[in-house]
Amino acid sequence: MPAIKEKNKKEDLKEGEYLVTYTRHLEKRLRSLETEKQLLDAERLRLEQELHSLRNEIDRLREPPLVTATIIDVLDEKKGRSIVKSSTGPSFVVNSSRKVKGQKIESGMRVALNQRTFAIMEILPTKLDPFVKGMEVIDSIPDISYDDVGGLEEQIQEIRETVELPLKKPELFERIGIEPPKGVLLFGAPGTGKTLVAKAVAHETQARFIRIIGSELVQKFIGEGARLVREIFQLAKEKAPSIIFIDELDAIGSRRLTIATSGDREVQRTLMQLLSEMDGFDQRGDVKIIGATNRPDILDPALLRPGRFDRLIDFPIPGWQERESIFKIHMRRMNIDKSNFNLNRLVDMTKGATGADIKGICSEAGMFAIRREAENISFKDFLEAASKVLGKMKEKSIESKLYS
Ligand code: ATP
Repeated sequence: MPAIKEKNKKEDLKEGEYLVTYTRHLEKRLRSLETEKQLLDAERLRLEQELHSLRNEIDRLREPPLVTATIIDVLDEKKGRSIVKSSTGPSFVVNSSRKVKGQKIESGMRVALNQRTFAIMEILPTKLDPFVKGMEVIDSIPDISYDDVGGLEEQIQEIRETVELPLKKPELFERIGIEPPKGVLLFGAPGTGKTLVAKAVAHETQARFIRIIGSELVQKFIGEGARLVREIFQLAKEKAPSIIFIDELDAIGSRRLTIATSGDREVQRTLMQLLSEMDGFDQRGDVKIIGATNRPDILDPALLRPGRFDRLIDFPIPGWQERESIFKIHMRRMNIDKSNFNLNRLVDMTKGATGADIKGICSEAGMFAIRREAENISFKDFLEAASKVLGKMKEKSIESKLYS
């Protein structure tokens, strides 16, 4: 009997051992299944997120495109009711959608409108306008020096004192206790070197040169003029020292007695923005404004008040000596046949020509030589070029008579 007992005991032991091993095996299996479950859960979560983003993408693709617009005026701040000018042209009075409720809407902001209801759906980031970014010579210091300017000694002297000195040595003005002029206005017929001199000052002061053209501001970018002016000044401050050169200032700054059309209002708004920007910055700061116009007589007097364009510099039609030096400057790099070349005769025959006309004559002469496939430019080429350019000049004489 004890033998049987012994056997049973052994079997019990074996079974016990087996159960322990089996339990361990099950525990192991359970753990591995749990890990697998966790992995599958994570995978499910990932797939759910992917599904969600794909659904969003589908929704986004189904949404009609939004129309961009600029806020012209805010009528009711609480309700977000405003007048906007859409990028497609017309202006609308629109409400804000719930999406932008609570966000402050100001005139000049860029917004996105629902195509059907025209409700404001989004406020777009105020980034620099591509026009501002792509403006000529932005971010660059011109490579024109005073040596490239013929004549205009007095003008250069004056602009050096009023623009260059405050930029280079602001402490001088501080010590003496006077404010340098904020803006300088260059006036004279087209092609008399206003832009050239402004670029030369920028070069001399190592300032960025930002050129805007008044007529483009109000014709090409209707409804956007004021915003562009603000952005340009902002850019100039960021890139300081800088010179803002406003060509054709009369296009935005001409005096008008009554505001008759919406176009007038647009010009008026752009001018007001310009005045407020000019008033808003420090005279001793390192942003300088140079304006240029052919018609100073029609400018709004508000522009010429102290603290704005309070220094006027006249750019006359060049005289004999000036024409001679302008010719010399433009001929510097030209390959000219010196035999029977007579500069005096050219200078004599170009009375009334501007610097731009003289430059035109030189390039035209070069073109004649190229057409002849010649090695260099002959005096005859210059004579032909002069008569061609001067002929064109006569056509424009009504304009030039104003200044001669
Ligand atoms: P606009 O009123 O049409 O803008 P502007 O007075 O600004 O004319 P500029 O653009 O400076 O004229 O002149 C046109 C070109 O004529 C210059 O790029 C330059 O090559 C030449 N030019 C004009 N004046 C001079 C000058 N005094 N010396 C040398 N070049 C000159």
